[in-house]
Amino acid sequence: MTVDIREQLLEKVEEGLIDKDGLILRMVAYMSTNDVKDMLQCNEMLDTVIPPEILRNFYFDSGHGWLEVTYEELIDLGIAKRITNWSYRDGEKVYLEEDIDVGTYIDAVKEQRGLVVTVKNLNVADNPLRNPEDRVDPRKLERFYANETCVLCDGDIEIQKTPEGKVFWTKGHNPSPLAEEGGCCATCNAVRVIPERLKQAGYHQL
Ligand SMILES: [Zn+2]
Repeated sequence: MTVDIREQLLEKVEEGLIDKDGLILRMVAYMSTNDVKDMLQCNEMLDTVIPPEILRNFYFDSGHGWLEVTYEELIDLGIAKRITNWSYRDGEKVYLEEDIDVGTYIDAVKEQRGLVVTVKNLNVADNPLRNPEDRVDPRKLERFYANETCVLCDGDIEIQKTPEGKVFWTKGHNPSPLAEEGGCCATCNAVRVIPERLKQAGYHQL
């Protein structure tokens, strides 16, 4: 005799011998993440159970607003080079301006990860976190520049700044004669490009 385990379980749930929510929780504990996702998707419950959203801080003043994201995220999403200089950067943190760059980010997150961005509004003038170090005023940061890619090693090209911290050059060094287009990083310039030029000019290393 074959026993339908589902029928047995359903009977027990109906009789009140098994707590249905507890049963589901116990089943889920033995399923892989992907199986749980598949099950929820089949029952059109995925969006209810796992809110498809990520929370980001949105800083605003009387005239404009900026969404706080990380530079790494922009690289992962492949949109770093599409971000305009109207956004600001503070090391790993990037403050995307609201008119164009926030839209670029929201679209990429939605298309690539199926996530909706929800925001926590923070007025630049307020100090909601009550800690001066946590106060962010994007206007006081440097303009956003994505690191260009070195044509010789695929690494990041250094962003060059004046002593006052203003960005004045992002394109790196001339890689000729090793490449005729693009720019190269400082390391490649020093250890590959310059020695090659000297060699071609007739200088030989000792
Ligand atoms: Zn390089």
